[in-house]
Amino acid sequence: MIYLVFPTSWHPSQPYLSLPSLKAFLNQNGVHDVVQRDLAIELLNDLCTWEKTKPLYEKIIRELNELSSRPSLTQVESEKFAKLREAEEIVMALKDQIDFAINSQRSPDFYEIDQYMENLKVMDVWLDNILAPYYPSQLTVIGSQMRFSPYSSKEVIDSFSHPEENFFYDLYEKWYLDDILKQDIDIFGISITSVEQIISGLTLAYLVKKNRPEIHITVGGSVFTKLVDRLEKDASPLFDFVDSFIVHEGETPLLRLVEHLRGDGDLSKVPNLIYKEEGVVKVNRPFAKEELNALPTPDFDGLPLDLYLSPTRVLPVMGSRGCYWEKCAFCSIPFDHMNFHVRYAENVVNDFKVLQEKYNCDHFFFTDEALPINFLRTFSAKIIEQKVDVQWTGELKFEKSLLKDDRMELLYKSGCRKLIFGLESYNQRVLDAMKKGVELSWVD
Ligand code: SF4
Repeated sequence: MIYLVFPTSWHPSQPYLSLPSLKAFLNQNGVHDVVQRDLAIELLNDLCTWEKTKPLYEKIIRELNELSSRPSLTQVESEKFAKLREAEEIVMALKDQIDFAINSQRSPDFYEIDQYMENLKVMDVWLDNILAPYYPSQLTVIGSQMRFSPYSSKEVIDSFSHPEENFFYDLYEKWYLDDILKQDIDIFGISITSVEQIISGLTLAYLVKKNRPEIHITVGGSVFTKLVDRLEKDASPLFDFVDSFIVHEGETPLLRLVEHLRGDGDLSKVPNLIYKEEGVVKVNRPFAKEELNALPTPDFDGLPLDLYLSPTRVLPVMGSRGCYWEKCAFCSIPFDHMNFHVRYAENVVNDFKVLQEKYNCDHFFFTDEALPINFLRTFSAKIIEQKVDVQWTGELKFEKSLLKDDRMELLYKSGCRKLIFGLESYNQRVLDAMKKGVELSWVD
């Protein structure tokens, strides 16, 4: 079985697109034993459920008693003692509110900004305190903080020896690992797409490898795409528990990895793969990109769609990969992609129709780095023409062409209800220095 996991943390309102795209592509190519799991939303949901977290409260009390019984405390122990005392009170005060707060984010309360902010505050304060036994580590709804830097392999690996601080180690092991290891897995894939997921994702890789060394562990996602040279040059210690990294786009590489691991075992034929063979790190260049129009509609089967924190179901969709502009001086996104490429609007409209029908979903989020205006025009016209009744949102760059004719009207009629523009400065000199390609007159 191929077991794909999306680790903590990510924005909790909807699933991320990587695993559903991979699962659909494997299925389309005859590989059907694929399971996907979103541990980001599962862990957040479990941690914001009083019944589930009672053992953590008991741990707070146990550790308080243990520290109180000591004749003296070090500076660090004193700080932890103070945190645990605070946590004991706060957890008791919030235990009757936490389930309400997370469920409220799944109800129409979500649209009431005061209630929304209050719920988020309750969840963040709760997470900070229910995880006090792991002090000084902290978790919030969308991120975490530990004394181990995610930017250092050495520190990430060091965190595995400190489950008393690395809550991912302790909680993944206690709550999810048995269930994972019960499965008949030969390939375990972890998608790490943000820095926030490095410690959690690699911790999971370490735990699986420690218990089932025969499983091939592969890590994909944009984080390691930026680190090809480092992985290659330093013969990273991450290869002690990760068998391979898939960089750039992952659909065809994962399919080929499955075929070769289940066939001749020759990893040199797997595109975009980085692996270690006889002590040497191999990078399978040149890197390949996908034919976006050959990709199937993503498959969200198996994801806990009712757990996401949104009053209506929202699914991610993709119109393009990469950025058509690629020039902003501060931006690393162009490094994640070989080239900018677009899916035909007709295919994206079909994705909307399939997903609406299959998952009873009318709300969509374009995951494009910057939605291309020409694509939007064609897409919107087709959605209107085919009478697909949906609402959608996405992110884009200010472009003069958006102001042409009745273009905004067209977007609205096609279901667009929000556009998120990247505007890092409202100063023309700074925008020009950034090579943003935006004139303030278009913004005004
Ligand atoms: S438009 Fe956005 S994604 Fe493209 S280069 Fe600029 S900041 Fe990066």
